[in-house]
Amino acid sequence: MHFLNSYVFLLVLIEHCKVFGFGWLAAPRSRLLSLSSSSSSSSISSRLTSPLQVQKTVIETDNAITTTTTTTTTLQEKSSLKSDNVVVVGGGPAGLSTAIMLARRGYSNIRVYERLSEPPPPQDDSWTQVDSERTYNIGISGRGQAVLRAIEAMDVLEAHSTSVVGRQYWEPDTPTASPLELTWTNRSYVTKCIPRDCLAACLIQEIKSKYNSQIQLHFNIACEGVEWPSVDVDADDLSKNQMCQLAMKSTISSSVFWTEKAAFVIGTDGFQSSVRTSMVTSPSDHKPVSFKLFKDTNVRVYRTIPLHFNSTDGNGRKKWRGDVNYSVRTKSDINLDALPLKDGPYLGVILYRPWDERITGLKTGKEARAFFDEIFPMFSPVIKDEDCQVFAEKRDSKLPVFSYAGPSIHK
Ligand SMILES: Cc1cc2nc3c(=O)[nH]c(=O)nc-3n(C[C@H](O)[C@H](O)[C@H](O)COP(=O)(O)OP(=O)(O)OC[C@H]3O[C@@H](n4cnc5c(N)ncnc54)[C@H](O)[C@@H]3O)c2cc1C
Repeated sequence: MHFLNSYVFLLVLIEHCKVFGFGWLAAPRSRLLSLSSSSSSSSISSRLTSPLQVQKTVIETDNAITTTTTTTTTLQEKSSLKSDNVVVVGGGPAGLSTAIMLARRGYSNIRVYERLSEPPPPQDDSWTQVDSERTYNIGISGRGQAVLRAIEAMDVLEAHSTSVVGRQYWEPDTPTASPLELTWTNRSYVTKCIPRDCLAACLIQEIKSKYNSQIQLHFNIACEGVEWPSVDVDADDLSKNQMCQLAMKSTISSSVFWTEKAAFVIGTDGFQSSVRTSMVTSPSDHKPVSFKLFKDTNVRVYRTIPLHFNSTDGNGRKKWRGDVNYSVRTKSDINLDALPLKDGPYLGVILYRPWDERITGLKTGKEARAFFDEIFPMFSPVIKDEDCQVFAEKRDSKLPVFSYAGPSIHK
């Protein structure tokens, strides 16, 4: 798939370690580093009664940290005021890797907050029937693998991913029955394919088994914004008034919200990062970062579709391979990329313009079948009727947009 290299937005942190995704890190002294991280788990109820740092909470907000006031009642306050008091916002591959990296460097009080629920463990049978509504397959290339190796998580990736060694593809004029083929011979690594959420599940498993005392994972909790301290203090000499304050909210119970304090905040919350937004909108006297969103001149959205390839064409001839990705560029300005799932179907990602009514106008499975017959005749036979129905009813999913934060991020 074409995202293989271009979407490994690395983010790393301290020194040379590289990770997946964007990340933002801020500390009271307004130091910014690009970084990566991760965590372990507990429910909201345990969180509010457990000996975690935390102050409970009344936050009056209308979704903007600038209007947040915290007249709060403290239920418990055991916050470490040391600089190893870290909050990671976003429990995706970047956040989880960063947390592991910090734990390996001796940080002992790392909390990761993820707004979605915890994914099933990587061994769970459900990964062979990957829920294409929730996730998509990604290819982990050399840089991503180097990060996983650095945090000793490569074994778990190997166990739950599958390898691709090349690609079969159709250009606009390539005959349906005769795809082009490319085997990668000059690469020092073999790309590993895995659902994005399963990669997160692998890292969660690593955290639970190796870093449980240092990293706490919390799911179904979102950070709505961060208020940065206005004072220029040394990270090793913090008082609670000099820490970053995060507005936290349960995503399953709208009445549960509180303020969290941290010496360091690491934003690995994806392309619509609330941490980044808070940096950019904070008062100018301690604004740590500026942000530029590049205009997207090639706007596309996507929907996923499972592809159930047989290894033969019915006459015993080998037709489909399980160790390549498949890619189609059409004259219709609709493209498809598909990566394999270990012990399961391929998952195709169909990219199209958000205004393309040939997809946005689909209402029934029958209409979707006609669409696949016309635009992707090579794949229509491996698409199930029930998946056509699901495809027609899907929403458009957005792709990340390139952006830059400066002046000193991503050193
Ligand atoms: C269709 C598609 C195909 C892709 N293919 C590839 C590929 O082949 N190879 C590749 O390397 N990359 C690919 N990518 C990009 C891939 O998604 C990223 O490389 C990877 O997921 C980035 O990890 P991340 O942790 O930075 O961000 P994300 O995976 O986006 O994780 C961010 C996490 O933060 C959470 N979050 C967001 N806001 C908040 C909040 N306010 N509070 C708490 N939590 C929050 C989100 O729920 C999410 O779990 C693809 C992306 C798409 C959309």
